[in-house]
Amino acid sequence: MILFRRELYLDNNATTKPSSRVVKRVAKVLRDCYGNPSSLYKDARAAASVLQDAREILARTINASPEEILFTGSASESLNTVLKTAFELFPAKKIVISAIEHAAVMRTAEYLRSRGARIEICAVDSEGRVSTERFKELLGNDTALACCMLANNEIGTIQDIPALAETAKAGGALFLCDCVQGLAKVPVDVRALGVDYAVFSAHKIHGPKGAGALYVKEGRPLIPLVHGGHQEGGLRAGTESSHNIAGFAEACLAIPETLAAARRTEEMKGRLLAGLLLMNPSIKVNSPSKNCLPNTLNITVPGVINSVLLGVLDFYGIAVSAGSACNTQENLASHVLKAIGLTDDEARSAIRISLPENISAGDIDYTLRVCSDFFSGRCSGVTMFMPAQLDEDLLLDPGVFILDVRFDGERRSVKGLPNSHEVPFFRFVPGLARVPRDKSVIVVCQAGLNAPLVAFYMRQKGFPRVGFLAAGLVAWKLLHPDLYEKHCGRGLTVL
Ligand code: PLP
Repeated sequence: MILFRRELYLDNNATTKPSSRVVKRVAKVLRDCYGNPSSLYKDARAAASVLQDAREILARTINASPEEILFTGSASESLNTVLKTAFELFPAKKIVISAIEHAAVMRTAEYLRSRGARIEICAVDSEGRVSTERFKELLGNDTALACCMLANNEIGTIQDIPALAETAKAGGALFLCDCVQGLAKVPVDVRALGVDYAVFSAHKIHGPKGAGALYVKEGRPLIPLVHGGHQEGGLRAGTESSHNIAGFAEACLAIPETLAAARRTEEMKGRLLAGLLLMNPSIKVNSPSKNCLPNTLNITVPGVINSVLLGVLDFYGIAVSAGSACNTQENLASHVLKAIGLTDDEARSAIRISLPENISAGDIDYTLRVCSDFFSGRCSGVTMFMPAQLDEDLLLDPGVFILDVRFDGERRSVKGLPNSHEVPFFRFVPGLARVPRDKSVIVVCQAGLNAPLVAFYMRQKGFPRVGFLAAGLVAWKLLHPDLYEKHCGRGLTVL
């Protein structure tokens, strides 16, 4: 039984809470060191010195030299820069990437392929591991760049980067490693890893958003993505975000503490998993048991659409993430989960829990109590409508109030249900004042991820009859093309 509600942020692979020392440092630099680091007077020199200190701290953290560090706006920017450099310099050669890279690599590779690049995707095994033999075969001796992440953001698999980087080197290819999820969770030493390029992001290690870093081993080529001023040695134009970079460095200084907490975090993960398996033995664990990030647990709960579980957890103050990266336009199953062999249904029933370092046993037990209530059906009170159930009678029932929480772009691609009331997801809370309590509310969204969150929130706020459309309007339209043509887009009201 839940007696006291807690607020638990268990989505640390998505982003982390900036630590108070980071917040303090960012505010101080923003306030006191606002000079343009490229100018020549005192204030500018102070800002330039902040950048230099940060560069030295980051270099020390990953065992590089300061000249090998480039500050960028994000890890996505850093990854784009390296991949596009490889294509520009060696257009006839291959780029080989693992099948479970982050979208910043996958989508950039897709884009480069559309421009004529030869992209090869290296399959992984059921734990998400890239085998050195398979990698070697794919590389051949005509690969410009090979890319594999140190640790996966969805399932936590840690790769044998030294072996993969060695293989790339033997085949004459450069090696790019996305270290975003590894930093502060496992030791990162770019020399020991043997990589040519490595990528980092401040907001994953309790730093600010808007600061990334790129390690470029001395002598390795790099073509700027952004042209303009001569900042970052002429390799990345644009006035540096000194306060964010200083915050990034401050976050790096705390890494020894977070690394020291890793064992305890892993124990907490074990406690959570053991508790979950005890209450529901059919749960399938998608994260590997060895060589996995200490904080990351990805599970499939058979027969449960992940957005429903997400809605319940959110209702009880717990933030976790869907294991499947739900594209808001289409309900796409995660490419990572599919790459390790999950079916679409298994991927859509997956959630990712990524613990903070300071998680307590009490927090884990609270999470388990909420899950236990959910599995035993004590968390209901919200009705799930499958697309087939939302038929013409229900659609046109005057006692039904349809609340459409999609974003503008989504509304343009699929017309709204008849007589629906529109309010975008990020503004739904004030919109609820205009939702009648004497009607049955059905919340709808594009792909089925946001609607349950709204429905559970409404239930918590005392709406007596609330339901949501599972799988979203995209799925509903596929099932009911006739109803879509006949009724949709009519009688819409903006709340
Ligand atoms: N690479 C990995 C493994 C990530 O988890 C992320 C963020 O989700 C990124 C790259 C992109 O980082 P950023 O938000 O700094 O662009």
